[in-house]
Amino acid sequence: MRLDLHVHTTASDGSLSPGAVVDRAIAGGLHVIAIADHDTAAGSRAARASLGAHRREGGGRPIQVVPAVELSTTRAGEELHILGYFLDLDAPALRAHEERSGRRRRERLREIVGRLAAQGVEVEFEEVLRVAGSEVDSLGRPHLARALVQAGYASTISEAFDRLIGDHAPAFVPTDLLDPAAGVRVILESGGIAVWAHPPMQTVEELLPDLVADGLGGLEVYRPFSGPDQIRRLETLAGRHDLLLSGGSDFHDPDRGGLGAFYVTDREVGALLEAGGL
Ligand code: AMP
Ligand code: ZN
Ligand code: FE
Ligand code: FE
Repeated sequence: MRLDLHVHTTASDGSLSPGAVVDRAIAGGLHVIAIADHDTAAGSRAARASLGAHRREGGGRPIQVVPAVELSTTRAGEELHILGYFLDLDAPALRAHEERSGRRRRERLREIVGRLAAQGVEVEFEEVLRVAGSEVDSLGRPHLARALVQAGYASTISEAFDRLIGDHAPAFVPTDLLDPAAGVRVILESGGIAVWAHPPMQTVEELLPDLVADGLGGLEVYRPFSGPDQIRRLETLAGRHDLLLSGGSDFHDPDRGGLGAFYVTDREVGALLEAGGL
């Protein structure tokens, strides 16, 4: 069984719609995906609804979509992302977070646009909205980066981040909505399993005990560019704290590698699937 438990769609900053993600995941040979958009489960809902329609029309079960989300939390001014798996997509705690985050992300992007303007880098907020498209639920810096490239202020997305809107750029404004403990709480209150996404090797060991005390249930260990030493170290840490293991591609855009090019199997993430009832 091939799985990818970390995929983005146009509901946040991915470039494919939830339906297109499902189609390409099937074409790429995946059997299970988790759509884990930044601070919104709209992509998860849409993909699961489209699969339901497929089954009612007499189709088989081409792929399973695990309900998921990736929450942006802030700790000491740095971003820390927490994945939620197997959540109840109608949970009031999740809905409340999505609403608050949607509002805050728009407001924060307006602030970044304002700071850029003060530096002579002028893009209209409306242009960012246009670039993000009508399906977006969670506005993010990648949308602004695309607008900056279109306006000629950078030649690539990564140059836009490096020079203008990266975490340490003068125009950067953090989302600053939740601390990690509050993020874990949103997921637990929504019936989900909280997993630390792409934990940085420099801080993982130091921060893990607090997060585990908050209710963290797993670590994202298997990623496209993780080396064997890194994987072994994260597996050991997870074992020490009795945590589940997860993995995924963090797919945003087919230009950066297609769906199915990277996958994990139930040998790596079987315990997480079982904990989620799959
Ligand atoms: P935001 O949630 O609005 O703070 O945007 C963060 C997202 O921007 C990340 O999840 C990545 O998808 C993307 N991102 C962050 N840094 C870079 C970078 N240097 N180059 C390209 N994309 C980036
Ligand atoms: Zn992203
Ligand atoms: Fe992330
Ligand atoms: Fe992600």
